Formats: sequence, structure tokens, C-alpha cells
Amino acid sequence: MGAILIMSNFLSKNLAALRPYVPGEQPQDKSYIKLNTNESPYPPAPGAAAAAAAETERLNLYSDPTCLPLKRAAAAVYGLAPDNVMAGNGSDENLAHIFRAFLTDKGVAFPDITYGFYPVLCSLIGIEYKIIPLRHDFKIAVSDYKGITCPVCIANPNAQTGIYLPPDGIEALILQNESRLVIVDEAYIDFGGISCAPLVNKYKNLIVVQTMSKSRSLAGARVGFAFACGEIIADLESVRASFNPYNINRMSMFAAEASFKDKKYFEECTQKIKLTREYAATKLKEMGFEVLPSTANFLLARHSAIGGGRLYSALKERGILVRHFSDERITDFVRISIGTDGQMAALLQAVKNILSEVAK
Ligand SMILES: *Cc1c(COP(=O)(O)O)cnc(C)c1O
Repeated sequence: MGAILIMSNFLSKNLAALRPYVPGEQPQDKSYIKLNTNESPYPPAPGAAAAAAAETERLNLYSDPTCLPLKRAAAAVYGLAPDNVMAGNGSDENLAHIFRAFLTDKGVAFPDITYGFYPVLCSLIGIEYKIIPLRHDFKIAVSDYKGITCPVCIANPNAQTGIYLPPDGIEALILQNESRLVIVDEAYIDFGGISCAPLVNKYKNLIVVQTMSKSRSLAGARVGFAFACGEIIADLESVRASFNPYNINRMSMFAAEASFKDKKYFEECTQKIKLTREYAATKLKEMGFEVLPSTANFLLARHSAIGGGRLYSALKERGILVRHFSDERITDFVRISIGTDGQMAALLQAVKNILSEVAK
């Protein structure tokens, strides 16, 4: 859209067309009610802060490049072994290693509406991608992937829609072609879905990606995981060790491990978010919104009286940040992350005021 691109004369030709991922706003100036980047509204588990703080004394030393205690903790959640796990500096880093390791010669297929980082990674690394449109109801139809021979990458629940594909759907996708790799990005699985991570023992063509950024309140720590069979993890570990062997910093490593130990806190937080989501969805529908059925920590909603871009701006003027996407199919919508009950009450009140002004 006529944006002026600044670049040096030195940039490699293959990167001239790179359009970086645009993350949601993280304003540092004013305290907005932040419902725009799917972070948890709840603080990290109580033990996590102390564990991170204790490590500040040892910042002169590199972190453990094997990451074994943290891998063990992540594996234990699904009854897996540490050699079924790789830990990354956020799941975005894991995705980058996976894409580089397994997609460069084969390409990848993913839905038109999904996590915006996938096409960006493809252009960074030089991977061809094929877009498989979601159905009219914004659902993934597994049968649409039947003839696809290149690897497939699915976010489940899907990013931006929140729509969940139950494990039998994922298993059907895996079984369509067992020599085709299936990557399942489960960033939002803890908000009501069933993880496919245990299936990595059964299928050699499955990689499950998870993050501690959303359900475990650690977005700022940057910790994510890839789960797969031992052979895939061995490949990924050699890519990781060739890029940054100390990819998880000392403070995050210990905060993450402590966080896994507090199962009760994790369950309380995810339960609260699920309840708040259902309440907010009901209220939005009462105000005339169409709300996609979400199993994630956000809602994608639209109203016939006001466009997504306008609603986003009107909310921002009132100190509430939500996310608006310009993709044609979802440009009428806003994506609202689930906050605390108090934050959602403020959002619902603001939306109500905006709608009554629009009606005047
Ligand atoms: C948030 C998100 C990620 C990135 O998570 P990080 O661990 O913070 O890098 C990956 N995939 C999807 C679908 C996400 O929504």
C-alpha cells in the first residue's frame, strides 16, 4: 500500500521482498487494557519469579545447552521422554528450525486464515507455500488436504478463528499419507482442546509445537517446545545446536521449570479463562455480534453495524486494545483476547457505548 521501504544496498537479493511479521502493539506509553496479543492476564506461577530471580546471580555463566530438566518437565506433561522434546526461544524459534530442517526442498501447505508467521518464515527461508482456504464457516476440512503431497502445517485451535479440530481430525490428516509431515501448532490447546503430543509415539510424521506464552503466563520469557519422535528431534537438535546452542536463557529456563511444577495454578488460570471466554461470548452475542466458536483464549467477533477497523479504533480511543486484521476474509472482525473478568467487563461496556453511538 505504497509504504516506503528502507533498505541498504547490501541486502541479499533473496530478501528484498521480505515483509516481516507485524506483531500486535505493545505500547510502552499508556496503560491500555491489553486484549490484543493473547497473553495471559494472570501473572506467572508464584514460584517462577523467584526461580528466575535466583538465576540473576549466575548470569555470568551460560545456560545449560542440553536443557534437560526443562525438557523432562515438558515431556512429563504427556508421558513422553526428553528425547521427544526440543525447547526453543519461544515456539516461533522452534517453527523456524522446523521449517528450515524439513520444508526447504518440499514446501508446505497451510490455511488462508492462520498464524501470520508461517508465510513470513517461508519468505525468510525461501520455502514455497500453498494456501488451502478454510471452508465458508472458517473450519479446516481435513479432506481438502487429501491430495496435498507437501508437508502440512495447521494451528489447532486455529489462530485468528479459535476453531478447534478434535484429535480424530488430526489423526485422519496424519493417516492421509504417512510419508508426509504434519506440523500441529498447539499454542492454544490448553484452553479446552486435547493435545496430540502423545501421538508422536505412534506416528513418525507428526510434530506438535507448543508454547508457554499463552496458557502458562510466560510470553515475556520466550519458551516453547516441539514434540516428535526421536529421529525428528535429533534432526532438530542439530539445527538448534548449529544456530544457538544456548537458546533458552538461564532465567527463563528456571522460571519455566518452576512453572511446570505448579499444576494447580496452571489449571486455575486456564479454567478462569475458559469461563470468562464463555461469558464474554454470550454477552457479545446478546449485543448482536457473530462470534466464532472458540477453544482458544480469544474471540473473533463481528457486528453488522460497525466494521472491524472502526471498532478497533473506537476501542483504542477508550483505552482498550484489540487486534484487527486486514485479511479480506476477516477484516470485518476484531480479535479480542480473554482478559480478567474486570477487563472483559470494561470491554463489554465500551462496546455497548460504541454501538449505541453508531446507532444514533
Ligand atoms: C502465539 C503463537 C505462537 C508463538 O508463540 P511464542 O512461543 O510466543 O513464540 C505460535 N503459534 C501460534 C499459533 C501462536 O498464536
